[in-house]
Amino acid sequence: MKIATFKFNNERRVGVVDDEAATVSPLDLAVDRTQQGIQAIIELQVAGSALLPATSTPIPLDSVVLEAPLPHPRRNVFCVGKNYYDHAHEFSNSGFDSSAAQGAVPQHPIVFSKVPESVTGPDTLIEYDPAISSAIDYEVELAVIIGKPGRGISRENAMDHVWGYTIINDVTARDLQGRYSQWLVGKSQDTFCPMGPVAVTRDDLDLADTAVRTWVNDELRQDSNTGLLIFDVPTIIQTISEGVTLLTGDIIATGTPAGVGIGFKPPKYMVDGDVVRCEIEGIGQLENRLKNRA
Ligand code: MG
Repeated sequence: MKIATFKFNNERRVGVVDDEAATVSPLDLAVDRTQQGIQAIIELQVAGSALLPATSTPIPLDSVVLEAPLPHPRRNVFCVGKNYYDHAHEFSNSGFDSSAAQGAVPQHPIVFSKVPESVTGPDTLIEYDPAISSAIDYEVELAVIIGKPGRGISRENAMDHVWGYTIINDVTARDLQGRYSQWLVGKSQDTFCPMGPVAVTRDDLDLADTAVRTWVNDELRQDSNTGLLIFDVPTIIQTISEGVTLLTGDIIATGTPAGVGIGFKPPKYMVDGDVVRCEIEGIGQLENRLKNRA
């Protein structure tokens, strides 16, 4: 099932998407419950509601504005770095990898975060200031959305805690990432976390075989598969939750494959006006335009 957060008549709503009909059916939720996007639905399901609230008349998708499924995450977005073999090597060789001393392929997941205020929706602007960074890069990533909370979650039980998935573009200022040994600043600039265009429930996606791609101005740059992750989703959940309680609505971006701008010689950074389109099979396409805000 695909669930979207969207604006219709300037009101934020949550609804079920029908791809064939190209419609979204709003769920019967009070306006104050839709402010956190799909968070209300996840909480209802975690509390044991098997059924979704009733839906009302379907609305054509082309008359709504899709937003990030979780427009205001309750806390930082967890992210995993260097989690595809091919990308781990391209990044380690780039000269911008402040973790390179540990070797190209990490022995344990590299976990960092993006501040929640960096989240933006599909079809919005990724804004940057060339005086702050001139090395803006894209990273398509499968993002896991946590349902049932927990601490000390084992690999074996990890999938019971997954509610579903969405797409995140882990936009990165490479020069800032390289300057500071912690990656948060280079990853958390305002608008550097496009998310969407919808969320899908756990059963809709096969973690062992799902295509992951990125185009910049219609040029295919990243073309991989979730089956090629170094640390799989259960391992990531086990690692983070060992002593950090995962909460309902937490988001974990699982890492990006090869083909990011830094991997090219010379690097292909994004510039004003570029359009970046991230696709994950079964979820959809997340498109954003770069904008020089200076
Ligand atoms: Mg990343």
